[in-house]
Amino acid sequence: MSRLLRLCLALTLVAACRAPLQRPVDPPRKAVFIILDGIPADVVEKVPTPTLDAIAEAGGYARATVGGELGGPTQTPTISAPGYMSLLTGTWANKHNVWNNSRQSPNYAYWNIFRIVETVEPARKTAVFSTWLDNRTVLLGDGKPGAGDYRLDHAADGFELDTLKFPHDKSSRYILAIDEHVSTLGAEHIRTQGPDLTWVYLQHTDDAAHAHGDSQPFYDAVAKADAQVGRIWAAVQQRQALGEDWMIVVTTDHGRDPATGKGHGGQSERERTTWIVTNQSPLGARFTNGTPAIVDIAPSILQHLRIAVPPAVAKEWAGTSFLRSAP
Ligand SMILES: [Zn+2]
Repeated sequence: MSRLLRLCLALTLVAACRAPLQRPVDPPRKAVFIILDGIPADVVEKVPTPTLDAIAEAGGYARATVGGELGGPTQTPTISAPGYMSLLTGTWANKHNVWNNSRQSPNYAYWNIFRIVETVEPARKTAVFSTWLDNRTVLLGDGKPGAGDYRLDHAADGFELDTLKFPHDKSSRYILAIDEHVSTLGAEHIRTQGPDLTWVYLQHTDDAAHAHGDSQPFYDAVAKADAQVGRIWAAVQQRQALGEDWMIVVTTDHGRDPATGKGHGGQSERERTTWIVTNQSPLGARFTNGTPAIVDIAPSILQHLRIAVPPAVAKEWAGTSFLRSAP
């Protein structure tokens, strides 16, 4: 063997030994957020919610805020659809332009979280589970050319229109049956498909409060919602056991009036005071020492998913991520 050949062989061996055996692979990052309608912070703190406690044990629980700047240009009604839109777009009603639950005309110039994910990384899988069809077809603008012409990969919604399977009753028990169905479908889809971004919307808590106010039937509805979240959380844990890195966020869209708990829509402290539970750790000071806002949720999820949000979209956000670590 020539001296040169021996030298080459030695250099090759050194290089081979120094090279790592295998590059560490980042686990797939996925997220699910759940809106439980109309539960003020004082109620979620009072009613036993073992699932939310378990999620908070892994990450954290914080009181949060909705409604924008009190008395300022971003002030937003503490109403359901405006609240969802604030979560979905990271902006307040002065931008997303949803002020009520009917006759909505969202300003699609402010991209929602699903449009961002489907546009930046179309291969990622998205899913929505909801009773309320408008959540997808109007607020998200799924499939609408004027809303970015993107498509969700999976949707199970509009069950309020299926009066054969869910016959309507005056006490709104059919909404509880729908939430049972929605949470079961959502959990099954997460367990079997592992979508990258999922929204699960559960409504019955708001109906119970509108009907009964601050009372046991409302608290019972909160306990049932916690059990429904338990289905999703169990599915997430099964996916995590497969090596995936999941973020779960559970929140509400508004609080309730301080007098009876039956209404909402105004700007009282109780209507503006909500809560966020997540399994994420570490959490930033915005979450642990401050008051995160509903508009922080989309930036946080997008950070977890490591989506390169177009700067022109992100600069319109009213919120920032409450996760501590930079992506
Ligand atoms: Zn609501």
